[in-house]
Amino acid sequence: STQEQTPQICVVGSGPAGFYTAQHLLKHHPRACVDIFEKQLVPFGLVRFGVAPDHPEVKNVINTFTQTARSDRCAFHGNVVVGRDVTVPELREAYHAVVLSYGAEDNQALEIPGEELPGVFSARAFVGWYNGLPENRELAPDLSCDTAVILGQGNVALDVARILLTPPEHLEKTDITEAALGVLRQSQVKTVWIVGRRGPLQVAFTIKVLGPEGEGPGSQVDGLLLGEVPRPRKRLTELLLRTATEKPGVEEAARQASASRAWGLRFFRSPKQVLPSADGRQVAGIRLAVTRLEQGVGEATRAVPTGDVEDLPCGLVLSSIGYKSRPIDPSVPFDPKLGIIPNVDGRVMNVPGLYCSGWVKRGPTGVITTTMTDSFLTSQILLQDLKAGQLPSGPRPGYAAIKALLSSRGVWPVSFSDWEKLDAEEVSRGQGTGKPREKLLDPQEMLRLLGR
Ligand code: FAD
Repeated sequence: STQEQTPQICVVGSGPAGFYTAQHLLKHHPRACVDIFEKQLVPFGLVRFGVAPDHPEVKNVINTFTQTARSDRCAFHGNVVVGRDVTVPELREAYHAVVLSYGAEDNQALEIPGEELPGVFSARAFVGWYNGLPENRELAPDLSCDTAVILGQGNVALDVARILLTPPEHLEKTDITEAALGVLRQSQVKTVWIVGRRGPLQVAFTIKVLGPEGEGPGSQVDGLLLGEVPRPRKRLTELLLRTATEKPGVEEAARQASASRAWGLRFFRSPKQVLPSADGRQVAGIRLAVTRLEQGVGEATRAVPTGDVEDLPCGLVLSSIGYKSRPIDPSVPFDPKLGIIPNVDGRVMNVPGLYCSGWVKRGPTGVITTTMTDSFLTSQILLQDLKAGQLPSGPRPGYAAIKALLSSRGVWPVSFSDWEKLDAEEVSRGQGTGKPREKLLDPQEMLRLLGR
């Protein structure tokens, strides 16, 4: 049976979901071999391209992922776009099981007039820009305005606000790209409004993001609505209300007085239209519809427009209303409404031998530990199916078959030891300026450095 042979398993995506799934499979099956396919040249998904540069401790999970990748039963194949360079049916043919862990690479559109104006960006692209995601390296946001508006009140919104308002010298020793640092040094942005449809009791960020670095001066809470707060939100709400209403201590008051930059939360507002400048060439403000809450408590509460509007002048609009997964391959079921692969406990519906984990399984919410738990569960289910004889029996060629296919198509994967060379290069480029690394941004340059 497959159990006695070597199960060949492949994982698509090398973010937390891909790596935690691989780790669990290798740990709980003594012979399983796991290949990880990744579209970028470099591994680690949003740990590299999402997590904010001033939260380096979050990136320590990379050490665990590196241990996994170095196992002789694990291989990393970067620079392979599944769905384009190789199809999911081809992978299913070559492996006993395939796990889709390809995250959520798109963002929800605002779907309001003016969204296309210069000066309007998705927070996803903005984050990709300061974190060195190759596709966003040309973003060059114009930060010559005084006020920025962030639409959405989740963790990502707060990350973006923090990066906009942190004095650039505090970011100099992080892995933020030198190009982003250059633009931030020239930034004129003094005020950042973080706008949400609902009230303070429904905000989506976790305490950590609002921690000491997040407590910007001048935070403001309007339209408080108190009621019964569901348990998980209790601490967050207390913290939010405290930071918003507490009288600052002497030191804090001095700090606030000297701080020239401020952020504030605007509740009960939903974006209606991006307002153009007089020449129509760029954003000059945003029209917000005032909302009120319809019955329901905590997260079940819906915001409905009251009919009033408010115009906020600003020169930069960042929309942070959510990430979104894309369908990967016509053969894989996809729920466009929920933006996930329909699955039961990680088993893709109606496709035996196909599994999913991480954001593409649950939707784009939750921190790395949530993704870890969820990925371990998918691996557990897969191993159960393997044991129960529900995966194809007989040997499978695994990577040998895919390697031949890829080279016939002119695709040259990048291995984990290739990544370790790029990693060493990044670390050495950062050394001169005291940064943990200076990220390589250009895939062509990376390939050249690898002698391709
Ligand atoms: P991802 O990390 O997105 O990994 C998916 C991988 O699949 C990517 O490497 C992608 O390139 C690859 N891929 C996509 N399509 C294909 C394809 N067709 N073929 C091959 N490969 C493909 N969590 C925390 O705990 N702390 C934080 O501070 C924190 N900060 C965050 C900041 C931001 C801006 C964001 C967006 C998220 C943050 N998170 C944080 C959440 C955390 O990043 C996620 O929980 C986690 O990354 C989800 O893991 P994933 O593997 O499902 O997706």
